[in-house]
Amino acid sequence: MITASVLAWTAAGTPRQNEKYKSSVFSGICATCGTPIDGDAVAVSEIDNATFSNHADFFHFGSSHVCTACAWLYGAGKGRPGNFIATASSYEQTVISLDSVVEDKRPWIEVVRELARLPADTPVTGVLTTDVKPRLWPRARVATVGSFGLFVHCQDYDTSQHVDFDLHDLIRLIDLMRHPMQAGFSKQSIYFGLMRDFKRFQKDPAQVLMWETELQGWRDNPAFLPAVLIAGISKEEKKHDNDSKTKPDRAVIVEPDTTAAAGHSADQTQFGLF
Ligand SMILES: [Zn+2]
Repeated sequence: MITASVLAWTAAGTPRQNEKYKSSVFSGICATCGTPIDGDAVAVSEIDNATFSNHADFFHFGSSHVCTACAWLYGAGKGRPGNFIATASSYEQTVISLDSVVEDKRPWIEVVRELARLPADTPVTGVLTTDVKPRLWPRARVATVGSFGLFVHCQDYDTSQHVDFDLHDLIRLIDLMRHPMQAGFSKQSIYFGLMRDFKRFQKDPAQVLMWETELQGWRDNPAFLPAVLIAGISKEEKKHDNDSKTKPDRAVIVEPDTTAAAGHSADQTQFGLF
């Protein structure tokens, strides 16, 4: 079975590893992802050093070498690729914020809507994190579009683990969260309960109660936390909310830009993503 590292590396177009690592020939399994190796590899001693944290976690298969896919990911540097998603044919780094200034990185909210339209058996791996500093990719697993999951890291909500959830539930939740967000409720209030924000609740109790009742029915769903992290409204929508009375129905629905779809497939432009 393909490992998460190999899936991401293959989708990225099998880029060369960082030149600072010397290649060697090895036969065995990858110390990080466990994929069989018979040929090019990089010795763990090339990667490991005194500042390398979580040694036991990252080289837990115990062999002396890592595969070329893992070597590429290690070579990207600590904390990279951070948020990412890979299918068999596309690899991209993603961002949580809708207002990110980072070019070439699309927000999750766009990416998940596209993913949901792919065939159910499409293999997929990725990391959803609010903190890009820890090296999380070695902990990613391979899931499929129909049996979805991501490695989710978010200390604010005490979570750092692979989470299985349904993509359609996720999208439904993201849509449900839009209106409270437009009304100014924070992600924490959406996660823990809208009544926490009593000031906002008082502005329109009947409406907030309706939103809260709806959200409450979903809080046990494993897609809830990923949805809280991914859901968002743009600065313009927030500004609009502050400028005038909230009119959620006038909000711009963020739909994936189909013209950009080709831009994230595994092509030459993906090589420079790190
Ligand atoms: Zn590997």
